[in-house]
Amino acid sequence: MKNFFLKILSLVFPITCSSCGKDLPPLSKERICSGCRENFPKIEGLICSKCGCPLPEGGQFCIVCRKNKKEFAFDKMRSAFLYEDKIREMILKFKYYNRTFLSADLSEEMIKVYEKHPFFQQTDFIIAVPSNFFRRFKRGYNQALLLARAVSLKTGKPSLENILFRKKLTKAQFKLSKKQRAKNIDGSFYVKNKKAVEKKNILLIDDIATTAITASTCAKTLKKAGAKKVFVLTLARD
Ligand SMILES: [Zn+2]
Ligand SMILES: [Zn+2]
Repeated sequence: MKNFFLKILSLVFPITCSSCGKDLPPLSKERICSGCRENFPKIEGLICSKCGCPLPEGGQFCIVCRKNKKEFAFDKMRSAFLYEDKIREMILKFKYYNRTFLSADLSEEMIKVYEKHPFFQQTDFIIAVPSNFFRRFKRGYNQALLLARAVSLKTGKPSLENILFRKKLTKAQFKLSKKQRAKNIDGSFYVKNKKAVEKKNILLIDDIATTAITASTCAKTLKKAGAKKVFVLTLARD
């Protein structure tokens, strides 16, 4: 009887994989099939100990981090996927097509990365990289915040939403050169609740780290406000 009901239900409300479109079992909580998940380009193997970028040749730091230890203001950054192929498509759907329900499935690999690196355990609380107010208004939600909530739910670390804000309108980053980006974004964040930040270890969550400049600027702002350590965990990186 139950199976019969499920069959009817899946005919009326079919659930399909958001990546390949294949049917998922009736009432499935998952929205991306296991085959697709397995094929997403995970970051595995050797990485830079600071910024987490892949280092196929080995070594402790990448060229950028080796050249200037203070290039990035965060203590350590890790990402679950390389921003390419299917995961890129998936993130764009998540970001621009209201597929907010994908945050649970997409954050799963982030949790694995979180558990793999013991330093993340030092986290006192989690915050999301704030999105620009007008762009969020247009889109209706901040996808980094959805990921932060999902990571909070699975790690038990609280997610605070009244800490870090964007100050002024920053031009869309992708239109600018690397130097212009840094200038555009520098000083564009501020901390509202300094008392909550003082001497705390903070985990910053974002969807994509393109140059790590945004994450670094947020970390700089948080440290200026008194934060002890800032770790970064992103879904994907370029
Ligand atoms: Zn699939
Ligand atoms: Zn590095």
